[in-house]
Amino acid sequence: MWTELLPIGRSSASGGYRRYAWTGADADCRAWFREQAEARGLDYEVDRNGNQWAWLGDPAAGDAVVTGSHLDSVPDGGAFDGPLGVVSAFAALDELRSRGVPLDRPLGIVNFGDEEGARFGLACVGSRLAAGQLTVEQARLLTDGDGITLPRAMEAAGYDPEGIGADPERLARIGAFVELHVEQGRALDLSGDQVGIASSIWPHGRWRFDFRGEANHAGTTRLGDRRDPMPAYAETVLAARRAAELAGAVATFGKVAVEPNGVNAIPSLVRGWLDSRAAGQETLDTVVREIEGAAREHAAAHGIDLEVVRESVTPVVEFDHALRDELARLLGRDADLKVPVLGTGAGHDAGILATSVPTAMLFVRNPTGVSHSPAEFAAEDDCVAGVRALADVLEGLARR
Ligand SMILES: [Zn+2]
Repeated sequence: MWTELLPIGRSSASGGYRRYAWTGADADCRAWFREQAEARGLDYEVDRNGNQWAWLGDPAAGDAVVTGSHLDSVPDGGAFDGPLGVVSAFAALDELRSRGVPLDRPLGIVNFGDEEGARFGLACVGSRLAAGQLTVEQARLLTDGDGITLPRAMEAAGYDPEGIGADPERLARIGAFVELHVEQGRALDLSGDQVGIASSIWPHGRWRFDFRGEANHAGTTRLGDRRDPMPAYAETVLAARRAAELAGAVATFGKVAVEPNGVNAIPSLVRGWLDSRAAGQETLDTVVREIEGAAREHAAAHGIDLEVVRESVTPVVEFDHALRDELARLLGRDADLKVPVLGTGAGHDAGILATSVPTAMLFVRNPTGVSHSPAEFAAEDDCVAGVRALADVLEGLARR
């Protein structure tokens, strides 16, 4: 499976993947999914939101066990984020068949469309639409960098955009959803474990900080006469780092826009975007409050006007506790496999589905923790351990 997937959408310049929603690379990934489903004699279908499904057994029977992930990527993404969950799903099904396990519940494998949001700027569009967390009106307004809307992009890829929207009947057939994913951090590497179970997805948010000063000549304006927003912004970046460190959270200013953006001009505006995440909402609130406090202090000291706008906040997602404990029990039977339970700062389709369906996640060790980069990696041994763990989980869930 990896041999077929590896060349799809790979940039020869960066070695990274550019598998954006509804592009040619995405179509190749989708064709691959369909081939895998049909080669195994599974019933293949595409739902109204363009998510692909492969079924063993009739999903209409209800209480289905579903696994899967996504095949799209961020710009110059790695090979594992997403595809590891889909490849492992098919491999786990093969493993169950070789074990000769009779399954009492329908088993589904899913590829959710546009998880990364690389093209239209919103993550998890396929699962959000299905779960009713993105309205049809909002979805129709999503536009890529070339001005192409989501419906037009779907249409160009040969999918009918007319039916997009909440799909509660489909989700109601699912009794449990388990997404396997490469870890996007080093917790498993540090604990020495191959596989882990997710406890929750950290709450996170994005805030825009506008530092407004006064544009002026970089050569002739005395330092004491300047209203330069850049030093106040720089102090804020450092304060964010300190606040996050003290709280055990993360805070990142990863995007900045400067006006007029000239080498020899004092800026009139520095606009920085803060992304912050923490294990709990209270910690996140504290960290952001501290960063905003520091920003106001430094802005005042430099004679700068500051506006802070909260652009988005996603509350904590707690995965289903009963299902999580069930996974721990099923995997705990294998004495060789320790399974730590860990939180994650990254969003996933599983986090979206968790509001409608009992949902759990398995993580596979990533020795460097690097993700969203061509350097993303998982060792073959660990991937095999992940498939075995997923097969154990699916067997335990589907035999009840
Ligand atoms: Zn992912």
